Amino acid sequence: MSGAGTANAVLQRSPGRLDLVELPLPDIGPDEALLRVEACGICGTDVEQYGGALFDSIGPTSPFVPGHEPVGRIAAIGARAARRWRLAEGDRVVVEPALPCGACRDCRTGRYVLCAGWDHYPMSYGFIPAKIPPALWGGFADLMYLHPNSVVHRVPDTVDPVVAATFNALAAGVEWGVEVPGTRAGDCVVVLGAGQRGLACVPAARAAGADPVIVTGLAADRHKLDLALDLGATAVVVAGEGDGAGDGGVPAKVLELTGGTPADVVIDVASHDPTTVLDAMRIVRPGGTVILAGLKGGKPVPGWVSDDVVIKGLRVQGVRAVGHTSFRRAVALIEAGGRPLHRLVTHTFALQDAAEAIETLAGNRPGTAPVSVVITPDPDSITPGTITPNTVPPTPTHP
Ligand SMILES: [Zn+2]
Ligand SMILES: [Zn+2]
Repeated sequence: MSGAGTANAVLQRSPGRLDLVELPLPDIGPDEALLRVEACGICGTDVEQYGGALFDSIGPTSPFVPGHEPVGRIAAIGARAARRWRLAEGDRVVVEPALPCGACRDCRTGRYVLCAGWDHYPMSYGFIPAKIPPALWGGFADLMYLHPNSVVHRVPDTVDPVVAATFNALAAGVEWGVEVPGTRAGDCVVVLGAGQRGLACVPAARAAGADPVIVTGLAADRHKLDLALDLGATAVVVAGEGDGAGDGGVPAKVLELTGGTPADVVIDVASHDPTTVLDAMRIVRPGGTVILAGLKGGKPVPGWVSDDVVIKGLRVQGVRAVGHTSFRRAVALIEAGGRPLHRLVTHTFALQDAAEAIETLAGNRPGTAPVSVVITPDPDSITPGTITPNTVPPTPTHP
């Protein structure tokens, strides 16, 4: 296949600097493909990357094309790739971030998302230096290279690509809210924290049959708690002043809602506040599961007594990576519809506004209350009526 032509791609050259550039298209071999990117989700990792985190591992003079949550249509595909992936030109897919080697112990035992890669740089889309040909390793571009080791999932034409761009967040919701804790029909699930990942746990847990599903958040997150209800939460709890100190305020409110029955599963996705770990321990039933997903900025949990884990016979499980099954179920959730997942996407931005997209998600744009932010190389591809670009939700955030 001819490599004539160029792609428009965002290149990160240094911390906080994104440039829109033209990069040459590669020849596509029999095991490879080219993706016409329709939408690319962004998350906290993009914010860290934008701040320069990746240069620590790939070197300060290694520009790269960011974007690891891409959705698009197959623009070109080699004959063997078409057979292996059961795809044809024009098919819509989402691409998992990981680009596994296929040979290491983690890959061989099905944990390819933990694959350390086969070189000294991270093998994940959006993280590979542009000096590695063909440079188009990220979703912040209108065309992106698909390596033979890519993990792709077909998405039906009927799904809005901007909604499909929530697949990464939803996959985390499936992994943390269902797969890892083993959530079953009728389980009581409590989600501490109403951010993007916490909200994503809601439709996932509901799809698994969990009932009730209760989400907690701060008063400043009221609009996100309302969204949680729209996504299937059976109740929400607003943490009051002083409730964040692990003093039992939030657990008391949650247990009041359940009639005193403790939760089967508590998922702590609250970032930076270590005291929610204590809340989780109070809310969970003996023998239940506490999932720790929110990073606390290295802070210890004040007053944490490990005896409580022993006496209650708890499973306390940390999670970070997201596995293949969760990606597959997330795509199925998106495909099934039924919940207003499009409401997770509060902002869309064109390719040339990638920096603004990241600043918005990072909370650096007063007056915006972002949940999920999506980059769309072709803004005309947004289905009218589903997403309103750059919406400012009615409830203002705290400064
Ligand atoms: Zn991400
Ligand atoms: Zn591997």
